[in-house]
Amino acid sequence: MNTTELGTLYIVATPIGNLEDITLRALRVLSEVSCILCEDTRHTKILLSRHNIHTKTESYHARSADSKLRGIAERLERGEDLALVSDAGTPLISDPGSPLIMYLRREFGQNLRIVPVPGASALTAALSVIPVPSGRFTFLGFLPHKKGRQTAILGMKAAEDSQICYESSHRILKLMGELDTFYPEARVYLARELTKQFEEVLEGTPAELQVLLTERPERQKGEFVVIVSKK
Ligand code: SAM
Repeated sequence: MNTTELGTLYIVATPIGNLEDITLRALRVLSEVSCILCEDTRHTKILLSRHNIHTKTESYHARSADSKLRGIAERLERGEDLALVSDAGTPLISDPGSPLIMYLRREFGQNLRIVPVPGASALTAALSVIPVPSGRFTFLGFLPHKKGRQTAILGMKAAEDSQICYESSHRILKLMGELDTFYPEARVYLARELTKQFEEVLEGTPAELQVLLTERPERQKGEFVVIVSKK
């Protein structure tokens, strides 16, 4: 194989809500690559059309078959430059991408250029407005839905640093109830709908947040980053 011919795979961060939250470099890369691999092509096309980008799109998601990975490797072998995006924020941060990158590293080793094009992530957006004591934190991604959930919550309590997780609207009230049971003294921040119309940050003990979410059920809607601190 002539490795000098290999294309480049760009891992491109896209907005988490506000379509203006994308870098100039991301826009240039997305318009220059031969194809954009999208978690959901329909979703990404809204962003592309807003920025007048006409690059071809193709789906790549968590359930993509091995043949898809092979196909992507072959395109890179032919020298095509590709971009990977997820529906929102930074790919691989609780989003598809890891199996693809592991596969490509196995196939090409260090010969393949995999280039980050950084930008928005709900994690860093939340951390930029919420004071985390001592600046140290652990990111847990999504907590397990069933098996291992209680262990994860007890782990949050035992931890020395702030604990950050993503949570869906379906489980946000449930999570506050679980924290109230196992870690009632926690200081909890809910960063909701960041960069969107109903953006807000709620703060309190798990019991106080249960009240806030129940009094105004519309606050249970949307997307959440949860930060749990000792004080
Ligand atoms: N890769 C993305 C990133 O870099 O943030 C995260 C993708 S993960 C599948 C989606 C989760 O991220 C949501 O369930 C929510 O917990 C969080 N999230 C995404 N957008 C958000 C927003 N605008 N405000 C608050 N949380 C958000």
